[in-house]
This record gives sequence, structure tokens and C-alpha cells, in this order.
Amino acid sequence: MVTDRARAAFLGLALGDALGATTEFMTPGEIRNQYKVHRQIIGGGWLNLKPGRVTDDTEMSLCVARAIVDRGGWDLPAIADNFLAWMKSKPIDIGSTCRKGIRDYLLSGNLEQPYSDNDAGNGALMRLLPTALYTLGDAALLRRCAIEQAHLTHHHPLSDAACLAFGKMIHAALSGADRFALHAIARDLIAAYPKFHFNDYRGHAGGYVVETMQTVLHYFFTTDSFENCLIGIVNQGGDADTTGAIGGALAGAFYGMEQLPRAWTKKLDPAVSVEVQRLAGELIRLSPSPGLRPPSPIGRGDS
Ligand code: MN
Ligand code: MN
Repeated sequence: MVTDRARAAFLGLALGDALGATTEFMTPGEIRNQYKVHRQIIGGGWLNLKPGRVTDDTEMSLCVARAIVDRGGWDLPAIADNFLAWMKSKPIDIGSTCRKGIRDYLLSGNLEQPYSDNDAGNGALMRLLPTALYTLGDAALLRRCAIEQAHLTHHHPLSDAACLAFGKMIHAALSGADRFALHAIARDLIAAYPKFHFNDYRGHAGGYVVETMQTVLHYFFTTDSFENCLIGIVNQGGDADTTGAIGGALAGAFYGMEQLPRAWTKKLDPAVSVEVQRLAGELIRLSPSPGLRPPSPIGRGDS
């Protein structure tokens, strides 16, 4: 059950990325004129993608997930090395703050960027999911790992707060929490950082982590299915592949595999589909989450 939700979360992230890439940087009006409602994975967009192709949001999440699984546990230098190899592979897209942090790691080996006013983008949040899966069952471990992975490229209190709240929401959703419990986590975030309030959502869906979080939370809490949540998000345009990826991860964890639209999963790059599902299962297996380990052999001794 938990593993099923984890697979749906990572698949949901890739689906949201592939779906939203079509409308990235468009306005809602432009999307309406061109598609009426954008609701299928058709590629295109400013990157002129093949249908089902994913972008940096999924690719950086894969970098984190592969590092954890390959090393059998948390290994920040391994994550940074994967980011570096990915950057050198000339990815189809890369955010400027991510590029700056990875370049700094290349030049000086730094695993933590210093605080910067310019680091309140959504680049750390968009790749948080694997860390949330790996730390399931241990809130303190989530806190440490989420901040470490974020500060490889983004060091800003709003990014940190969004990462921690999103990680807690993923943990809760994987454990079967209802939407009231998830809403309480969102309210805690807003109590600490009122900027994140989304009850009068204005439709701003840019790369600023506050707008990203508002867009995801607004559509998650005002829809009743994975599909409607994602359609709402990506038709808002702006940083649509990234809001789609983050919303897809949350909605996937909450609604589970059977709610992922067949028309979308069929279109997703098959290699990505297979790998995210395998890695999701491995991350849960490595996590401290109770009830997933084989029973210990206590009591089977010398009776
Ligand atoms: Mn992207
Ligand atoms: Mn984006």
C-alpha cells in the first residue's frame, strides 16, 4: 500500500512534468486560445518536446533517487556528483540557480550554498520527492536530508520551509492521511510564513517557490481527483512543468496508482516510467518506515 502510493507519487511527478511542459511560460489566456483546456500529454511547448518526454524536474529527482539507491543510504556528495554529471550531459533545460550551485560544487567542492536573496525559486522543492520517500517514518531525518539536498543549490528560508512542509505532506499522504490532515500541515506553513496563504489564490504560477506552492495547494485542495488537480495546475501556465511535477507527486501519493489516467501513463517515456517506479520501491525499502521490514527473528531461538 505504501509502496503503491510511493510509486504513484514518483510516476505522478513525471506525468505532471511531461503534461505541464506543453504550457510552461504560457498565460492562462494563451493556453485557452490554443487548447481550450490542455488535458493530454502531447509534448511541444517552448522546448519542442516529444510527447511523454520529461525535463529537469524529473531528471534532477532521478539524480537524487539514484544516488540514494546506488549508495544504499543518504550520501550528499553522491547526489552532487549526479547533478554534475547531469549538467555536463547538456540537459534540455536547467534552472539558473541550479546551474550556479552545481558549478560551484565543480569548482570548489562546496556542498552547501551560502544564503542568498535570489534562492527563493522552486528548484529545490521540485526534486524533493525522493528524499521524502527515503525518510518516510522519521521526521527528523526528513528535516536534515531535505535541507541538505536543498542547500546544494538553493539556500533561502522560503525554499526551506516549502521543502519541509511538502515533505511532511508526502509522508502523511503515503501513510494514508486524509485531506484534513494534509490541510493542517499547509496551515502550519502559513502560520510560520504567511506569504504562502492560498485561500484567495490569484493565479500566479511562476518559479518563485511561494507562487509554486500556492498553485499546487490551491488545486490540490479544490479538486477531487489526480486528473482534475493536474489539469487545473497545468492550465495555469507559468512554471507549469514544475508546478505539475510537484502537484503530481503530492496527488500521486494521495490518490494512488489506480487514479493515474491510463491515457497519460501510456504516453510517458517508457524508460522513465519503469525507472521511477523501481526507484520509488527501493527508496521505501531503504526508509525507516515501520511495517515494511520482514519480521525480526525474535522468539525463534531455543524453544
Ligand atoms: Mn522543467
Ligand atoms: Mn519549470
